[in-house]
Amino acid sequence: MTTSSFVSFITLFLSLSSSILLLVLLQLPYGNSEEESYIRLSLDEIVDEMQSLATKYSQFVTYDTSQNRYGLPSTCPSSSSQNTGCYNHLLIIADPIIYSHKSGEGQLALQHRPDVFLSGALHGDERVGPVALVHVATLLVKAASCQAKLTVAGNDCDALKESLGIENVAWLARLVSTRRIFVVPTPNSSGYYLEQRNEDYTKPNGQSTSGIDPNRDFPYNQAPSQCMKSITARTINELFLEHLFQMSMTYHGGIENITFEWGATDVPDNRVSPDDVGQRILADKMSLYAGELYSSGQLNTSPNGRFYETGDMNDILYGVNGGFEDYAYAGSWEDQLQAKQCTPSTYDGYPAEKTQYDDATLRTFNILVEISKTKDPPSSQLGTNVDLFNAPFAFDNNSNNGYAAKHIRTALMAIDMVEPYIEINKFQKKILKPEIKPLKKLRTIDADFSNKRWQKRRKLVKTRPKLNKKVEWSVGGSINVDETYLIYGKYSNFPPNSFGSVNQLNQSEINAAIEIATATSAGDQLLYVTEIQSGGTRWTDPTLSDVPTFSTLLDLTPFEKGDELAVYALAKVDQNWKNTPSGNVWPVGKDVQSHIVRQRTDETYVSNKDNIGRSVQGRLDWISVPLTVLIR
Ligand SMILES: [Zn+2]
Repeated sequence: MTTSSFVSFITLFLSLSSSILLLVLLQLPYGNSEEESYIRLSLDEIVDEMQSLATKYSQFVTYDTSQNRYGLPSTCPSSSSQNTGCYNHLLIIADPIIYSHKSGEGQLALQHRPDVFLSGALHGDERVGPVALVHVATLLVKAASCQAKLTVAGNDCDALKESLGIENVAWLARLVSTRRIFVVPTPNSSGYYLEQRNEDYTKPNGQSTSGIDPNRDFPYNQAPSQCMKSITARTINELFLEHLFQMSMTYHGGIENITFEWGATDVPDNRVSPDDVGQRILADKMSLYAGELYSSGQLNTSPNGRFYETGDMNDILYGVNGGFEDYAYAGSWEDQLQAKQCTPSTYDGYPAEKTQYDDATLRTFNILVEISKTKDPPSSQLGTNVDLFNAPFAFDNNSNNGYAAKHIRTALMAIDMVEPYIEINKFQKKILKPEIKPLKKLRTIDADFSNKRWQKRRKLVKTRPKLNKKVEWSVGGSINVDETYLIYGKYSNFPPNSFGSVNQLNQSEINAAIEIATATSAGDQLLYVTEIQSGGTRWTDPTLSDVPTFSTLLDLTPFEKGDELAVYALAKVDQNWKNTPSGNVWPVGKDVQSHIVRQRTDETYVSNKDNIGRSVQGRLDWISVPLTVLIR
C-alpha cells in the first residue's frame, strides 16, 4: 500500500468509524427506547431537558425561572458571568383542556384540582433527586402525549407502552390531566451547579460567605432575620403563595430513610403531629414502593431492614431550625414556632408580607426522602427503567432497581395519593377504555349523545335486560377502601343538576340519590345500590403487581329496551387517617390539620384560597365517571 493510498484508507476508515460512532451515539436516547439507564446529570443537562420538554410537549409543560416568574434576583452577582446556576428553574405540568368547559362544571373542577410539589434537592451536592424528577416529568408528559395521540419526534408510543405497560401509560396520563404538578428538580440551582450543599452567596461588598443552607431558611422555628435569605427558599415560597399544594416531596441524600413532620428542633421530645396516623401509613407504603435496598434484613421498615426506614424526622433523622418540611405542613395553623415575617438582609431584602400566610397555604403533607448513604452515587447505582413498575422491586444491587428508579416511583406515588379516584374498568368481558383523554374535555352528563363526538367519549355498553351483569372497578389515590359500591338507574332518575362526570359531588347530593335508591318499594324502584364492599388499592401492598379490583353483579331485569342507564362507583377511603395517633400529639389537643387528611375524612371541610380561586373540599364518598348501559 502506497503512502497516499494508506492515508486515504485511514481517512476513509476514520470517517466511516466516526459516522458509525455518531450513529451509535444518536441511537442511544431513542434507538432502543424500551431500555434506558439513568445517569448522573449536570445542571446544564437538566435545564436542557426541562426546556426541551416544554418545547416538545408545550400542550402540557411550562418551563420558567423564578427570576422571570416572580422577579427574584439572580443568585450570581451581576458583575460575574451568568450561567444556568444563577437561575432557579421550574416546570409546571398540567392539562389545560380537560376542565375547560364553558359551564360552571369545569370551573368547579379546576377550583378543586389538587396541586403537587416536587423538590429534587435543596442541597446542591445531593444529586439523585434531580435525576429522578427529570425522569418523572419526562414519563408523565410522554404518557399524556401518547394518550392524547399526539405525534412528537422522539416519543415512540408503542415502545413506551411496551416498556411500561399500557395500563401504566394510561395511569400516568390520568395523573397529568387530573392534577397540577410542579417539578423543581434543582430548587437550589446555585448549589447544584457548583456541586456544593449551600446556595452561593457573596455580600454586596464582595466579601464571600460560606453560602446559605436553604433547608434552614424557612420561617418555622427560625429567627426572622435568618429566614428567606436564599433565592432557593424564596422560589419555593413564591410557588406556595401562588398555588395550593396538598402534597409535597422533598428529596435529599446522605442517609437512607423516608420521614415526615415533626422535624423542628423546638417541638418537645417524643411528640407526634396531629396527622401522624396518615403520615406514618403513607411513608410506610412509600418505602415498600421504593423497593428493597438490601438483600437481607427484616421485611418491615425498621432500622437495618430491607426497605427504607420510616418515621418522624425528630425521631429517626434529626430536628432542624427553619426546615422546609414543617413550614409547608404547619405554617398556616401552628403559631408557636412560626416566625412572624422574615426580615433577611441578603439580596436587598424580601417583602415582609410574603411570609405572612393565610389559613390554607401551608397545610401540606411534606415527605422527606433521604435517598442514599452517599450523596452522589455513581450512575451505576441509579438503575434503569427495566421493570420500573413491575413489583416486587426486589434487591438487585441497584442494577435496575437503583436509587433513581426507586424515587421516580415514590414521586409518582405522591402525585397519585394527593386525591382519591375511582374508575369503572370492565363490563362483563369488555375492558373499558380509560375515561380520561388528555387534552379532551371530560364529557358532561347532559352531553348530546346523538352527537358522534360524545358517543365516542363515553363509556358505553349495550346489553339485554338480564340478571347478573358483571361490573368491575378499582380505586386509586388512597390506601384503604372502607366502603365501595355501585349506584345505578336511568339517567333521568338521578337527581338533576348534580350527578355528572366532571365534578365530585357534595355529600348531600349523594345522600339524595341513596335515598331514592332505598326509599322506594321494590318493583317501583328508580335507582339501585349494590352491597357495600371494602378492600384495597394498588398502594395497600405496593410490592404486589396486581391492582386490586372490586366487582359485583347488576340486576338489569327492571329495565326495558331503549333505557339508558348510568352506573356510578363510589368509595369512602382512608378513614383511619383521622384516628388519634398512638403517640403524644403536639400541640396538645390538636385534631388533624392537613388538607390531604381532612379532604377525605371530613365532609364539612372547606379550605379556600380566594386570591387564586382554589379550594379544598372535604368529602367522604368519591365518585367515578359513569358507565352508560344501553338496554337493547
Ligand atoms: Zn440535604
